[in-house]
Amino acid sequence: MNNKIDIDRYNRVKKTTTIHYNMEVNQVLSEIIDDFPDKLNGMTYFYDRFRPIEKNKSLYPKEKKTIASMCIHVPVEIIYALGASSVRICSGAYSTDTAGADFLPAKICPLVKSTAGAIYLDMLPGNANPDLIINPTTCDQKKKIGEMEDEIGKEFYVLEVPPSKDSEEARQYWHRSVKKMVKKLESVTGNRLTRRKLKKSIKMILTAQAEYRRFMKLRRKAPVIFGKDAQLITNAYFFDNLNSWTEALATLNDELEERIAQKHHVVGPRAPRLLLTGSPSIFPNMRTHLLIEKLGGIVVYEEFCSSSRMLSDTVAVDEWFLYDMVPAVADRYLKPNTCPNFTPNDDRIRKILLAMKEYDADGIVYQTFTGCQLYDLESRKIGKELEKAGYPVLNIELDYNPKDSGQLTTRLEAFMESIKDQKRTKRKKI
Ligand code: SF4
Repeated sequence: MNNKIDIDRYNRVKKTTTIHYNMEVNQVLSEIIDDFPDKLNGMTYFYDRFRPIEKNKSLYPKEKKTIASMCIHVPVEIIYALGASSVRICSGAYSTDTAGADFLPAKICPLVKSTAGAIYLDMLPGNANPDLIINPTTCDQKKKIGEMEDEIGKEFYVLEVPPSKDSEEARQYWHRSVKKMVKKLESVTGNRLTRRKLKKSIKMILTAQAEYRRFMKLRRKAPVIFGKDAQLITNAYFFDNLNSWTEALATLNDELEERIAQKHHVVGPRAPRLLLTGSPSIFPNMRTHLLIEKLGGIVVYEEFCSSSRMLSDTVAVDEWFLYDMVPAVADRYLKPNTCPNFTPNDDRIRKILLAMKEYDADGIVYQTFTGCQLYDLESRKIGKELEKAGYPVLNIELDYNPKDSGQLTTRLEAFMESIKDQKRTKRKKI
């Protein structure tokens, strides 16, 4: 916290926001857990990750440095290899959005306001107190928060991301950026990046990703888990201990296999199966999932930077030498990445169409946060391509304020009814 600001006021805002945050978290958790009676035992671990923890406790060991990231573009393999804890701090809380609105323009994206509010008030996941925040130059709004160091009271490091990803020049530029970041992290952690440590951390993440791929394969086979639970699993990856997360997911996957064998499905065959994409849902902003699934639908795939996009692409190493591993790690975050900050970004359309087929989705819901120009701009092109391919598309705009949930419910209900009609007609024809 900046020592120039009024301490009394800061403490008052923090106290009120903490109360609101706890209420918000408890309410969303209770909706996720109690409003859906068919619970998976393996989800208890993930639900517990999101319960507010005591003020003076932290998930991160004091003896290690904590490095925070503002976005999916940060190569976390390097953070782990340097012996630091890693936490992604993008926030979905309405309570901290309100706090961020105190010092940021009202019309910017709620994710940015909420994240800035959480950093400013020291209300980060797992009570993290980052030694450095890595801020990639992806979205313009997020990028500018890094210039508010004095106001927010934390050190930011700007990780330069090229605006396109297809040229060799872009690749070289990105490799240089990542190497520069390694130097910065070495100086913050006081550790040197070694071949052995980087290999170990790459393998740790590959193991987590393999378990996630198994999870998605099971999800594809049968509707044995709701999307709201799937979204929580990937959100927990933001801040959890990676080995514990992987172990918990393996246990859950075993349970899902049993459910598949017993044909224990969470929805019937007529339920609309939806793909959700656009501005990323991050706990406790689980509104779209919850509305869809309370209305009898199921989200079968999330094309978000807070879910599938974060865990699908893997590092491909030819030689396990440092000079080969660092570029290989960097490449995983560039070429396969379909963030809308890249132009052109046709890969995203291709990947969405593929997921629609693979997950047998009936339609797509495209959510845009008010103020998020990047996702808004891409929504038109993607909508057109999907409609061309015969898929119904619903575009919704929302922020973190739950006041418009009634209107959203009506639109989602009508969309899902039309999908059900289409399914009925198709069945009759067969
Ligand atoms: S949702 Fe959009 S505006 Fe908000 S941080 Fe992400 S890309 Fe930026």
